[in-house]
Amino acid sequence: MVDTDIIKFLDLKKVNHSFEPALGDAVRRVAESGWYLLGNEVKTFEREYASFIGTEYAVGCANGLDALILILQAYMEMGVLKPGDEVIVPANTYIATILAITENGLTPVLVEPDPDTLQIDDSRIEVAINARTRAVMIVHLYGKCAYTERIGEICRKHELLLIEDNAQAHGCRFGERRTGSLGHAAGHSFYPGKNLGALGDGGAVTTNDRALAETIRAIANYGSQKKYVFRYCGRNSRLDEIQAAALGVKLPRLDEDNARRREVAGRYFRNISNPRVTLPYGGRIQGRDNVFHIMPIFCDERDGLKEYLARNGVETIIHYPIPPHRQECYSRTPMARMSLPVTERIAATELSLPMSPAITDSEVDRVIDLINRF
Ligand SMILES: *Cc1c(COP(=O)(O)O)cnc(C)c1O
Repeated sequence: MVDTDIIKFLDLKKVNHSFEPALGDAVRRVAESGWYLLGNEVKTFEREYASFIGTEYAVGCANGLDALILILQAYMEMGVLKPGDEVIVPANTYIATILAITENGLTPVLVEPDPDTLQIDDSRIEVAINARTRAVMIVHLYGKCAYTERIGEICRKHELLLIEDNAQAHGCRFGERRTGSLGHAAGHSFYPGKNLGALGDGGAVTTNDRALAETIRAIANYGSQKKYVFRYCGRNSRLDEIQAAALGVKLPRLDEDNARRREVAGRYFRNISNPRVTLPYGGRIQGRDNVFHIMPIFCDERDGLKEYLARNGVETIIHYPIPPHRQECYSRTPMARMSLPVTERIAATELSLPMSPAITDSEVDRVIDLINRF
């Protein structure tokens, strides 16, 4: 089989090529400007991104993990959170969500997902709340909106912070609002493979809370608001000018790209018919509350299916083979002793199919045909 016959999980070269010549022009503009950090490109992108998400503020930072860490650290500095406070979080998420919590000396309280939506099960949140609970961090996993009216009501009733991990769901909707504007603050990642991806690492926090935005900006700048005066023990976490310029080129097409992702997903939904394979979301084709960062399917013979697809030139990825509570880094924490059957079953059976705005219908049809003959 020649290399060009391989259907990539995500052909980033093709995705980014579709933004030429504007993308290359933007990079060159910054390269030639002589100004690489904390400049107008970042300022402009922050304004555009805040307006796109529907928040007052967007603060650029180095990556998505930092965005989440900065939110929680800022709340600690503001006296809203203190060490040992509990943060409710879905058990089936990427490790970064949990790392942001433990990094700040806070305690993650893992809650199982709803096997149908794959998002945090809102009927299991209230029983996880106790006197130490201070926040709920939802993750719009796979690009599907995790927020529900019930989650909003629970947070209001118990006076909890609602923080969104929007690393996989740029552009996703809840009604007319966007994810990233639904809670008190949201962390975004611009890792190259995300729906809005830079040409390297990047991240942002969105919020309507001015004090929070200012605190985050200071912490991300060594803890300083005034040159050489350090109010916080901060860090260096910046979105650089080249990444901001690249993101500024890609943002205006995000809704269109997400619509194409939904179209691709619709094709998978309509045509995958192998009884050994289970479609996500009860097999229901999704609306604007899903931007399909990931197209997950489920199969009891997942490893065999993955290998069969690879043999036939189709790249797939597992999101994620080992859930956070089973990771070695948390082996000496109470999380390690938890039994989370829904999460563990997802980890054992999930397989992510090729998905991007650049994949062609005939490539998708080839993947479908192979799956149906498995
Ligand atoms: C990618 C991702 C992150 C981390 O973003 P980085 O930019 O890679 O640090 C956090 N949470 C989730 C759910 C992610 O998918």
